[in-house]
Amino acid sequence: MKSRTTIHIIIILILIAIVITILTSTGENRKESNSLKKEDTAVQAKVEQLRESLLISSDDTANLEIKFRAEQEQLNMSRDELEQYQQQLMKYRKYVPDKFPTKTHIISQGYLPENNHYAYDFAAAKYDTIFAAGAGVIESTAVNDRVYGTTVLIDHLIGFKTFYGHNDVNLVKPGDVVEKGQPIATVGMSGKSTAPHLHFTVIYKTKSIDPGTILKNK
Ligand SMILES: [Zn+2]
Repeated sequence: MKSRTTIHIIIILILIAIVITILTSTGENRKESNSLKKEDTAVQAKVEQLRESLLISSDDTANLEIKFRAEQEQLNMSRDELEQYQQQLMKYRKYVPDKFPTKTHIISQGYLPENNHYAYDFAAAKYDTIFAAGAGVIESTAVNDRVYGTTVLIDHLIGFKTFYGHNDVNLVKPGDVVEKGQPIATVGMSGKSTAPHLHFTVIYKTKSIDPGTILKNK
């Protein structure tokens, strides 16, 4: 009789322990997702604040897009237009992601839409520095993306974003403001990668564009 009571007490204690474990773990998960949400909102707020401080209107970016196309197609511009364009470019210059993100410019795989490769792969030594191609705000980072491993995404505030994949270590976190040429990560082979290299994507208004059309500053 006495031993049966003991067994009952032990079973009840085990059940209580299980319930407590479940309750505390979901509480922690909730806390974690709340703080992640908070960080996202903070990053968004910072991006908006910076945009406002730059007085970048959607008209400005639309105009810039047209001018970029004009430059690429080498259309003739009047003297006034050209001056206006140059002034505009001066204002935005540091945000344009035109700086090579690695010291070496060895492209091991180019922009090949037919191969589903909408980026440049820069061959580099492991631990080489990865530089921000333009000034902006770190929009997001990851450490275990299935394909790209450790990654950084920069919002350049004028319609451009750049993405850096297969990194060894990230040196920045979401919300950080970076200047053009600032070290943001080191070269690695995280994710699906057989040799150390940087997978570098330039996004303009949600579309991946050929990085070769914009990279010029060594
Ligand atoms: Zn790649």
